[in-house]
Amino acid sequence: MTMADGRKARSQPARPPTVRILGVEVHQIDFEQTLTLIEAWIEARRGPCRQICTVNPEFIIDADRDPVFAAVLARADLCAPDGVGVLWAARLQGVDLRERVTGSDGVYRICKRAAEKGWRVFFLGAAPGVAERAAEILQNRYPGLAVAGTFSGSPAPEAWPAIQAILQAARPDILFVAYGHPAQDIWIDAHRDELPAAVAMGIGGAFDFVAGVSTRAPVWMQRLGLEWLHRLIREPWRWRRMRKLPVFVVKVFFERMRG
Ligand code: UDP
Repeated sequence: MTMADGRKARSQPARPPTVRILGVEVHQIDFEQTLTLIEAWIEARRGPCRQICTVNPEFIIDADRDPVFAAVLARADLCAPDGVGVLWAARLQGVDLRERVTGSDGVYRICKRAAEKGWRVFFLGAAPGVAERAAEILQNRYPGLAVAGTFSGSPAPEAWPAIQAILQAARPDILFVAYGHPAQDIWIDAHRDELPAAVAMGIGGAFDFVAGVSTRAPVWMQRLGLEWLHRLIREPWRWRRMRKLPVFVVKVFFERMRG
C-alpha cells in the first residue's frame, strides 16, 4: 500500500488467531512469530505501548475469578501460550500450539534478538539488585545488548511517579516487568498510555531465574511438562497457588464435555 505522501506503508504482520480456553483468548503463536510481531511493533511505534501477557493455567483460573484481570488479558495485544496445561487444553480443541512461549525463555530470546537489532531493553521489577544482575548476565551473553536501565520499583500506585520519570529518561523499546501476575499485567494495562516503550511484557520470576536467585527445572523435566512439579519441590510455599492446576484440568474437561 502507498500512502498519500508516496511513502510505502510498513505492512504489519497479521495478529495470529486465538484459541479460547475457559473464556481467555490465547494466541496461536510460537517464539519466532512473537519476535516478528515485536519487531513490527518497535519499527512502527504507533499508539500506546503494546502489551504481552504469558498465559499459563494459573492466569486462566485467576481470570475466571477476577473480572479485572480477565479484562486486562482481553485487552492485551498478545496472550502468549505459557504452561503445558495451555498446550494440552488447546490440543483438546484440535489446536496444536507447537511450543510454550514463556517469560523465562522469552527474556533470553528477546534479548538475543535485541542485541542483533539494537533494541533498547529495560528491566523493571524483582527484589533490589536482581534486575541489575540479570541485565549484566544477559549483556555478557549477548554482547552489544543495549540495556536502557534497571529498577526494582513496585507495582504500588505511589511508586509510579518515580518509575515514570526513570522510564522517560531511559526511553526503552522493550520493557520487561517482573512483578508476578496478575499485578504486573494489571500494572502494564493501567499505565500503557504513558509507558514510553513500544512493547511491555510481564515476565513473572524470569529475572530470578536469570540471576540465579531461583533455579529452573532441568530441560528433561520441562520437556515432560513437569516444570510445575520442580517448582513445587523447590518452592513448597507455592502449593496453595498450585491447587489451581487440578482445578484448571477439571474445568477444561467439563467445558469440553459441554461442547
Ligand atoms: N515482585 C516484585 N514486587 C512485588 C511483587 C513481586 O518485584 O511487589 C517480584 C518478585 O521478586 C519475583 C516476581 O515478582 O521476582 C514474581 O515471580 P513469580 O514467579 O511468583 O511470578 P508469577 O509466576 O506469579 O508470574
